[in-house]
Formats: sequence, C-alpha cells, structure tokens
Amino acid sequence: MKSKINAHKADIIAIGKRIYEQRLIIATGGNISVRLDNSHFLITASGMCKGLMNYDDIVICDFNGKHYIANDSLKYEKTSYCHSRESGNDSTVFQGDTKNNRLVSSEVYLHTTVYKMRPDVHAVIHAHPPMAVACSLADIRLDDPLLPEIIMTLGKIPTTAFVAPSSPESAAVIRDLIPYHNAIILDRHGSVTVGKDIREAFYNLERLEFTAQVVYNANLAGDLKRLSSDELFRIEESAQRYKAALSEVNKK
Ligand SMILES: [Zn+2]
Repeated sequence: MKSKINAHKADIIAIGKRIYEQRLIIATGGNISVRLDNSHFLITASGMCKGLMNYDDIVICDFNGKHYIANDSLKYEKTSYCHSRESGNDSTVFQGDTKNNRLVSSEVYLHTTVYKMRPDVHAVIHAHPPMAVACSLADIRLDDPLLPEIIMTLGKIPTTAFVAPSSPESAAVIRDLIPYHNAIILDRHGSVTVGKDIREAFYNLERLEFTAQVVYNANLAGDLKRLSSDELFRIEESAQRYKAALSEVNKK
C-alpha cells in the first residue's frame, strides 16, 4: 500500500510541476487529488506551490474531507490536529497533521463531491487556466459545439454560477454538472477537470485551456463559424468509429 501511495504522490508531483510550468496555475493556487480506494484519496496540502512539491506536501483524506495519515502498518489513522474557520453560516474544518504541519487543501469539498458522485473518476485537478478565466470574465461561453476534436474528446465545457473560492458552495455549484462533464469552469475563478487517471485529468485541463484560447481569439477576429447539424453528425460518426477501433485494440 505504501508503495502505491508513493507512486501516486510521484505522479501528483510530476503533474503539478507541468501545470505550474505551463502557467495553468501560479504561486500556491490550485489543487490536485488521486483516488486511493472507495473512501480515501491523496490531495495536495493547502498553501503549497504545485511546481515545488515534495512527498510531505500531499496528504490523505477521506470522502468527508477528514485528514488521515498512513501509519506503519499501512492502516489509515485519523489525525488529531485541525484548524477551523467560519464561512458565513457554515463552519468549514480544515484538518492537518502535527508532524508535517500540513493542512488539507481548502477546496477539498470540490474533490469529495466528485469522488462521491463519479466512481469512474480517479483524479481531480482544480487549476486557474488564464484564458478560461478570461472567457468567464468576458462572459464568453465554451459550451457551444465549435471545435471537432474537443467535441470528440471532451464535449461541452459548462460554466458554473459564481461562488467565493474555498467556500463550501464550490462543491454545490458543480453537483449538477459533474455527472455529465469532465471539464467545468468555475465562474471568474478557475477550472475543475477529472479523468480515469491523473494524466487524463491533466489532458482535459489542457483541452479546456486550448478551447478557451481558440474561442477567445476567434471572438476577437470576427463572427464564429458554427458547426452545422450535418457536420456534427459526421463528427459523431467519426467518434463512434474511433471508439470501436480503440475497444478492439484494448481487447487484444
Ligand atoms: Zn482556486
């Protein structure tokens, strides 16, 4: 179990570095998690620069957002240290461990919501991709079917209502969308992307930001050329052919 945890931590550190170097997050923004089992996941600790993390900067959480550590017999133990703060009428508890003085990410409830609602998801990335945030500032929506490859791989990218970052409402605004979407924009804040593993969640983040860049620039250049229903039908046919070929290869 410990080697599995360390392997996932190594993946989180590597992907965190890429996301930071690609400027999809800056400073200490964003958070990354990977599912361990049906009740626990690894998540980056609060206040860490994702480009400069080590193993101690990633903590274990349960699906209620409580912080655990893996003890020597590789069983999860609840930690005793916690720091609470008030947020409106809600009391949000961020837990940490005394040994390493790490707090669970303040956006932990985004992650617990995804894992509870999507058993197929094994990784979640919350980032601050600048063009996607710019689109939500300018009220440019990314849920129109405009780019064929994005329709085939990611589908529509919806934007949530506004909520304050790090508030429990962040989880509430994705609840209706996450069952149907692998990439969501949090209004004037950032993104949530998910995947069957951390690489897919990262690729979906890149796809979201690429879409935002293209649509933003196309909006500046002139009227958008929308796909016709015939073109959408041909894209759907092509997607079905590709999926069938892929499943044949995976059977072998
Ligand atoms: Zn954020």
